[in-house]
Amino acid sequence: MDTGQTVDGPTEKCGVVGVSFRDRDAARPLYYSLYALQHRGQESAGIVTHDGFQQHSHVGMGLVGDAFSEDDLDGLNGRTGIGHVRYPTAGSIDSSCAQPFSVSFKSGSLGLSHNGNLVNADEIRDELAGMGHAFTSDGDTEVIAHDLATNLLNEDLVRAVKHTMNRIHGSYSLAISHDDTVLGLRDPEGNRPLCIGKLEEGYMVASESAAIDTLDGELVRDVRPGELVVLSPEGFDSYQLVERENTAHCFFEHVYFARPDSVIDGNLVYEVRRELGRQLWAESGINTDVVMPVPDSGRAFASGYAEASEGVEFAEGLMKNRYVGRTFIMPTQDERERAVRLKLNPIKSTVEGKSVTLIDDSIVRGTTSNQLVSLLREAGATEVHLRIGSPPITAPCYMGINMATREELIAAGGPVEDVEEEIGADSLAYLSVDAIAEALGEDHDDLCLGCVTGEYPYEISGEETDRDVERPRTDDRELPADD
Ligand code: SF4
Repeated sequence: MDTGQTVDGPTEKCGVVGVSFRDRDAARPLYYSLYALQHRGQESAGIVTHDGFQQHSHVGMGLVGDAFSEDDLDGLNGRTGIGHVRYPTAGSIDSSCAQPFSVSFKSGSLGLSHNGNLVNADEIRDELAGMGHAFTSDGDTEVIAHDLATNLLNEDLVRAVKHTMNRIHGSYSLAISHDDTVLGLRDPEGNRPLCIGKLEEGYMVASESAAIDTLDGELVRDVRPGELVVLSPEGFDSYQLVERENTAHCFFEHVYFARPDSVIDGNLVYEVRRELGRQLWAESGINTDVVMPVPDSGRAFASGYAEASEGVEFAEGLMKNRYVGRTFIMPTQDERERAVRLKLNPIKSTVEGKSVTLIDDSIVRGTTSNQLVSLLREAGATEVHLRIGSPPITAPCYMGINMATREELIAAGGPVEDVEEEIGADSLAYLSVDAIAEALGEDHDDLCLGCVTGEYPYEISGEETDRDVERPRTDDRELPADD
């Protein structure tokens, strides 16, 4: 897959973080954590802190390094807070949707950092709007904030969160600040990751453990699906608010989105990718002179593949220009094609006169794969075989990943042979769903596989589901929250 910066990759997604310290300001640790999560979103970044009396907030567009100045960080007082990096998935691409979303209301202040996407946000927004709530954005995070703020008028924190969980449906990992209390909440299917870290002077939650490492902390464990954790500087309280028989972990986190050095749901992402590479060799290995990754996304897969082959040489055949950003403007097809040359250049000596297996994690639209195959042929490769570390993507994602529409997905249009021809490879093979489940040590029933099977773990209008969905009621506003 393309690196997600320009041409062909899905665009995730968001990163969330929350910290609670005893004697230390939260702003800078949050800022460093956001740097560690920058790969999860580059559109905007924000931090909300609380100093025991009032909430402080700063959100800015762009990368973390551009969104904050020294003065901004100095103004974010307090020992607790949350942070967010965002790539828009629901809601417009402008500062009105930048997060954390913060609001003050009768019983205090709230800040929300959300990763995921609700599939029933419109229903709840309409209902709340009918009750007089005014919305400032079209994002689903504001919907959660309004619902939670309403519940907090009548209920304690844990009951209020449970009440909101009983109404929202979809994918959400949330870092929430309620005054100077920081919470972590993961949807009942555990679709997006969220983990708990112990720091020298406090505790944190974060989308990925790499953020905990950045603060020299220790990964305690993942937040469980359906669990609320309430952080304090001394530890955390756990409330299992909703339990489901099955989870719906997004397999794509392991294949592409997450950092290789993160541990998600007990698996080190780098090792999962190497194992997927080994499985790729077992399922569709081909003896070529060299195997090479599409940098950087295919590297761990290719190293596992080469190891399992016991003979195919691992080589770096494509060099990446790290300085081509996502804002690169490509108005014409010719310029779009040139973008690949700007980003990736072949190393002739490892390609010329050789048969090559090129490994990538996935194919979305196929434009990058097509151009890379041509590039390797132009550099003198005698054969170019493509091996992909995930099954064909044939359906969109409704859980917060911008995968492209069905019409844009190259594999949705026909069989593998057609894709192979369109891309121009000598052969093309994908990994099976079984191999994914095996590498993750999970049953199919505990994974979200919607984008590769077309069957989703949530009830989505016009789509098939692969399970008995327990859809929350949205009309239970009058019901008291139970325990
Ligand atoms: S549809 Fe695909 S990308 Fe979206 S949550 Fe499910 S597995 Fe992840």
